[in-house]
This record gives sequence, C-alpha cells and structure tokens, in this order.
Amino acid sequence: MSYIIAFILGSIWGSFANVCIYRLPIDENIAKGRSYCTSCKKQIKWFDNIPLLSYLFLKGTCRFCTKKINIQYFIVELISALSFVIVVYLFGVSLTTLLFFILSICFIIIFFIDLKHFIIPNELTYPLMLIGFLKSFDPNLNKLLFPNFFNSLIGGIFGYLIIWLIIFVYKKLRNREGMGLGDAKLLAVIGFWFGWISIPFVIFFSSTVALIWVIPDLIKNKKELTSQIPFGPFLILGTLIYLLIIDYIKIYLG
Ligand SMILES: [Zn+2]
Repeated sequence: MSYIIAFILGSIWGSFANVCIYRLPIDENIAKGRSYCTSCKKQIKWFDNIPLLSYLFLKGTCRFCTKKINIQYFIVELISALSFVIVVYLFGVSLTTLLFFILSICFIIIFFIDLKHFIIPNELTYPLMLIGFLKSFDPNLNKLLFPNFFNSLIGGIFGYLIIWLIIFVYKKLRNREGMGLGDAKLLAVIGFWFGWISIPFVIFFSSTVALIWVIPDLIKNKKELTSQIPFGPFLILGTLIYLLIIDYIKIYLG
C-alpha cells in the first residue's frame, strides 16, 4: 500500500518537476496559474493534467491542437514516481525518506534543465546546500549515508573549490570555460549532503560516465573534445553510482 502511495505522490511531484523544468530557465513564475499547452497556449483541463495517465489517454498529444507532447513529460513523471517507490522501499517512512524525496525531485529538475539549457539554477542549489548542512545536525540520521556537520561543511567547501579550481586552471591554460560555476555549486550540494569523502568518488564516477558517453561521438568524429557537454547530469549519475555502492566503500575504508 505504501508503495502505491509513494508512486502516486512521486508522479504528482514529477508533474511539478515538469513545470519547473519548463519555467525555471525562462524565468517564468512557478506558481503562475495553471499549466498550459506549450504549443497552442490553451490551459490544460484538470482531468487532462493527471500525471502519467493523461499522457497515455491522450496518446501524447494536446486535446486542442493535437500537437505531440514531448515524451519527456511522461519520462520525468515516471522517473519521479519510481524513485519515490525505491526511496520508500529503502528507508520506509522516515526523515531520511523525506530528505531523499526532496533530493530526487531537485536532481531530476536539474538533470533535465542542464541537459537542455546548460544551466543549473541557483534556486535549487542554494536551498539544497542549506538542507544538506542543516540535516547534518540531526544525530539520529543514518550515519553511513550522512556526515556530521563538520564533515558536511568541509564537503561543501571541498566540492565547490575543486570545480572552481578546474575552471580556473582550464581558463589559464586554454582560455575557455570547460565547466560552469553551476557545476561547482552542484558538487557543493553533494558535499554538504554526503560529506567530503563522497567528492572524489562522485568526480571519478561522473567523469567515467561522461567519457563513455562521448567516446562513440569522438570515434565517429561527430564531436571534438572541446565541444560543450553539460556536466550536471553526469554529476547526478555519479552521485547515484556512489550511493549504490556506498556500503562497500565505507566497509572498505573502515
Ligand atoms: Zn495545444
């Protein structure tokens, strides 16, 4: 039963994530009125705004202009719903679950915005840093996952500085920007949430995935090494890998 509730809750928040993904980069007020079709601008009726189901019923088209609705809306709602189910499966009904609900929705929003627009909104990273730091004062939280407040603070600073340094060096050597400060802030979020120990692992995993991602294009000569790719989505995937194997890492490190 709790899984069904988590799934429904996740899909509703996924629907909200879709609004943020669309509106945040164009500076449109999140709270501004009802959702509308991005093609014909007609307001979407409440019964056409049911997460996941409406997309299926309308076969991915708008009721008015019958224009195709981007499948991304459906994917975002599905990923959100599934991640809520996984979080509840892992942590039951707890503060940790609430924290991971917040983190997954924000990470999903960041993932899709950065993928398309190459920006990571401060509206998301700043609150996440604050939550990550504040939660480290709760001594009852899972100690394997979450650091104490000192470790959290060091992690945040370490995460920010390491990408800031990469940007700085890269600028000096090549006179161009390889990464943005948005990436630095995102890694600071990860440091605040999971402590300084997570930073080298997340960087390693993200770079590996990013490399695997660009290799086919490099071989086919479709891209040059210098062409821009957003790093935020890879940082998020790297964090996911880190969290999946955190047990082994912590056991190994004692
Ligand atoms: Zn329409």
